[in-house]
Order: sequence, then C-alpha cells, then structure tokens
Amino acid sequence: MNEASERLAAVRAGIARAAAVSGREAGDVTLIAVSKMHPAASIEPMIAAGHRDFGESRVQEAQAKWPELRERHPEVRLHFIGRLQSNKAEEAVAMFDVLHSVDRPSLVDALAAAAGKSARRPDCFLQVNIGDEPQKGGCLPAELPALLDRARAASLAVVGLMCIPPDAVEPAPYFALLAKLARRHGVDGLSMGMSGDYETAVAIGATHVRVGTALFGGRG
Ligand SMILES: *Cc1c(COP(=O)(O)O)cnc(C)c1O
Repeated sequence: MNEASERLAAVRAGIARAAAVSGREAGDVTLIAVSKMHPAASIEPMIAAGHRDFGESRVQEAQAKWPELRERHPEVRLHFIGRLQSNKAEEAVAMFDVLHSVDRPSLVDALAAAAGKSARRPDCFLQVNIGDEPQKGGCLPAELPALLDRARAASLAVVGLMCIPPDAVEPAPYFALLAKLARRHGVDGLSMGMSGDYETAVAIGATHVRVGTALFGGRG
C-alpha cells in the first residue's frame, strides 16, 4: 500500500472501531479528507485510493485547486468547512456540494439567494459555537432555534449541525451537547471530530468527521 492508502486505512479503522462501540456501522460515517493547504499532487493519491469526500476552508484556494481535479474526477464531493463571507455565497454554492459553516441570518439569506439563482442546492450544516468562544464562528446555542427556522423557511437543505469544540479540553461533553441539540431540533447530521478526536466524535454520534492532519500530514 502507498502512504495515502495506509493513512486512509488507519483512519477508516479508527472510525470503524468507534462506530462498533456505539453500535453503529462505519458506513454511517462520512470521512471528509480536509485538503486545505495541501496541493493537488497530495490530493490525487487519495482519490486514486478511492476517497471521494474532501474539505476545504477557503473559497479562493478551492477555486484554484479543484476545477482541474474535478474535471478528471467528477465523482468527488466537495465540503466547505471554513468561515464563509456572505459575498462569497454565490461562489460557494457553485463549487461546493455541502456547506458545514452556515452560522448567521445574513449568510442564510445570501445562500438562499445564491441557490435561487443557480440550479444548485448544497446540503447545509448549521455551525454552533458550542464552547461560546468569541473568536470562533458558529451561532450560540441559544440562537440556534431562530437560525434553523430561518434556514428552513428559506428552503436551505439543512441536514445537520456542526461544531469545533474548544482547544485543549476534553471534547466529549461538547460533542454530546451538539448531539442533544440535533435531537431536540429534529436534524440527523452531526459534523464533528477532527484528527485528534474523531473516534470520540464517532462514538458520540458523528455522521461526518473532518480529518486533515491524520491523512495529509502537517500543513507547514
Ligand atoms: C482544518 C480543519 C479541520 C481538520 O483539522 P485536523 O486537525 O488537521 O484534522 C477540521 N475542521 C475544520 C473546521 C478545520 O478548519
């Protein structure tokens, strides 16, 4: 096996282990390979190894990297996981299949307008600022009901909730809180877990994990 296949196999094994302890199937979890800051040459081997879901956190970087890759691999699904400015909504809707960081009313409106103009309707996760950290994106848990109502009224395809727990503390309670919010509000998807904590996230119910470093190595 080459390095890309080995790393993919290792992360998939971790997901399978965590899924098993929580009575779920590994196939219930989508592994998003976060390729931000890595060049096309590093992404190609992952696609060759059979991987299909990739995550990027900047629209401009994705526009520079992905059109050519996608021409060769039209089956790839692109996930946007970074902060999204409303003035980039049209470009994001044009390029991405799933948006994980919808976090405020103005962005809901911009995405709804962009989806209305194009024929595309990406799946959306609403990002929750689960640790109430001012420097992080996401709506506060208390703002979630209104944001969900607005997104649903605007006909966005809301498929779940997303969070990034605070650094350097045990993430499990934050993952559990996101899962509780999702249950309370009738959404199924849970985008949570990164290289350091994806097994914990899967054990608590993650349907989508966003893994960069464990697949591609450091970002320099
Ligand atoms: C960069 C990033 C990741 C991946 O982080 P790793 O620790 O490299 O796995 C996941 N989610 C978001 C929102 C990110 O920005």
